[in-house]
Amino acid sequence: MYHSYTETSLKYDPDRCINCKRCTQVCPHAVFAEGKEHVELARPAACMECGACAKNCPVQAIEVQSGVGCAWAMIGAALRGKDMDTECSCGGEDGCCGGNSPT
Ligand code: SF4
Ligand code: SF4
Repeated sequence: MYHSYTETSLKYDPDRCINCKRCTQVCPHAVFAEGKEHVELARPAACMECGACAKNCPVQAIEVQSGVGCAWAMIGAALRGKDMDTECSCGGEDGCCGGNSPT
């Protein structure tokens, strides 16, 4: 069964996970953490919807709508040379990512 998180479009089904740990290696925000039987969603609110985890998961245990969140805003702002705050659609009170970035 998928678990979805209101902060982002990220959905993860631990029952499908084969514990290959690819998602822990590709995620830039350490959203997934290693676990005994399957990975754990350690920081779901830190997801910037880049889509790397879902693309690298061999069993489709992860779904995310990439291109709709902060990553899209950051890329768009960089291309336009504009301030990201005017582009971001994440809804966070503290600006893009709502202060959820790891550093
Ligand atoms: S979509 Fe990107 S930021 Fe979000 S959990 Fe997957 S790899 Fe991490
Ligand atoms: S990439 Fe998929 S199968 Fe591999 S650890 Fe992550 S969720 Fe599990």
